[in-house]
Amino acid sequence: MTLRFFVIIGTLILMCFVTSLLVSYRYFFTLPTINENIKDYQDRELLSLEIALNREFVFLKTLNYDYAVWDDSYDYMTSFDKDYIESNYVDDTFKSLKIDGVFIYDMNFKQVYGHTFDYIQEQSFELPEFDLNTHLPNRTILPYKKNTSERFGFLRTEHGPVMFASHVIQRTDKTGEPVGSIVFIKKVRKSQVAMMAEVAQVKLSYSIINDDSATQNLLVLNGGIQNEGIATERQRILLDINGNPLLTVNIEHHHQRLPVLFDLYLIIILIMFFVASIIGFFVVNRFFITPLINGASAINLMLLKNDLQPLHFKNQFIEMRVLINGFNSLIKEVKKQNEQLEKISKIDELTQIYNRRAFEEIYTLQWHDAHNQKTTLGLMLIDVDYFKLYNDCYGHQEGDSALQALCRVLKETAQSNNGIAARYGGEEFILLFNQLSFEQFELTSQQLRKNVNALKLPHKGSKVSDVLTISVGCAFATAKAMDNESITAKSLIKDADVMLYEAKNTGRDRALIKSI
Ligand code: GH3
Ligand code: MG
Ligand code: MG
Repeated sequence: MTLRFFVIIGTLILMCFVTSLLVSYRYFFTLPTINENIKDYQDRELLSLEIALNREFVFLKTLNYDYAVWDDSYDYMTSFDKDYIESNYVDDTFKSLKIDGVFIYDMNFKQVYGHTFDYIQEQSFELPEFDLNTHLPNRTILPYKKNTSERFGFLRTEHGPVMFASHVIQRTDKTGEPVGSIVFIKKVRKSQVAMMAEVAQVKLSYSIINDDSATQNLLVLNGGIQNEGIATERQRILLDINGNPLLTVNIEHHHQRLPVLFDLYLIIILIMFFVASIIGFFVVNRFFITPLINGASAINLMLLKNDLQPLHFKNQFIEMRVLINGFNSLIKEVKKQNEQLEKISKIDELTQIYNRRAFEEIYTLQWHDAHNQKTTLGLMLIDVDYFKLYNDCYGHQEGDSALQALCRVLKETAQSNNGIAARYGGEEFILLFNQLSFEQFELTSQQLRKNVNALKLPHKGSKVSDVLTISVGCAFATAKAMDNESITAKSLIKDADVMLYEAKNTGRDRALIKSI
């Protein structure tokens, strides 16, 4: 898994976690509380509405009671005195009481008096529904059942629904048997509904029900608190006195918008959190992940190329800079150690010139170069004369010192002609030159021998000189030989070896050359 992938997954998990936390909090704590409050509020609105409706009936019932329980009304039921009617039920009475009709019945449901007067339009109208001999079901409006003295409710008429209140006619002191009943009616008007709406602080409208089946599942308006859910608006019905649906009331509650799970605040909080998370990711990516990835891939590339280099990243953070500087110091140290190791592995410890292994490598490379470029290549194989005897005479340590002095000369001579010197084994050495002319090569070989003689290292044991001498076997590959491939790297060494053998056999302290 990459670091960037890990951080992306981490950021996504964090976003999911916080989102579900906020949504759960709203779903399990905030929303139920808000809904509970709205439900309480709406229940109160419905109760207020019911109270407002009851209040309308209370007005009507009170008026009706005043007229029914009154000696004058009682007397009228025996005398049928017109004065009673003329003095009590004039049109002004209807206007001042705000009622639209009065009906008086005897105990046999016979209407003994009836008068309607629309107190707003100020005109009479017909209400045949209150003729209880022709409209028998409407007899329920009268309080003639046992233990009842009053009734009230709604009744359907051809002029629309009306409210009514009825009471048995009794003496003022409530003695004696009821002799009939008085019914007051009042039309259901829009203005009345508007007043109720104002009391309950809701919007109200109503419609008359003509098809019962459409309203079967609706609750009645005056049914108290019924366990309903919250809603922006709802329908209730009003029944007439016989229990038949009469009016549908549309109630629009004060709360016109119900709470939703993802409301504006939650969405804004979530968007802000998402934006913050994404910005956070980009900051982490820009300042931590990208430098780390770049550093890791640079290190990877170094390892692939086997080429250790210091990192050149700039970073704002002290810790990252410490890391980069630490890495760079480490690289510097490793490079230094590598160089030392390489040197140790290539340089002969005693003589401080290349060892045999290093020579083989350089020789192989230079052979290929000379072969490709068709240039000359020259080898000088050197063996110290009578060195065994030198050791015998002066001791091994002195022998070592002599070899060190000799090698300094070998190295200088080689380097002054763009060549290299290496220890070939024991007291045998080899010099390699490229791109020298034969003349230069020959001159160098003689110069070499002379330089060694010039060291003037006393050698009592030598049979050829008083000082230390060397024998040199030289092999020179001309450009032509390189071109026609008549020789190999091995054969050139062999040729130098042969010439060394020759130099030894012909008297030592000499350099013999074979040019191929
Ligand atoms: P020649 O003229 O025929 O070469 O006679 P030589 O005595 O030099 O014979 P050879 O080349 O066979 O002898 C090599 C001697 O060099 C043997 C060994 O004791 C000595 N030798 C080799 N390596 C070292 C070294 O590292 N230090 C010392 N002090 N002596 C060495
Ligand atoms: Mg030897
Ligand atoms: Mg020797």
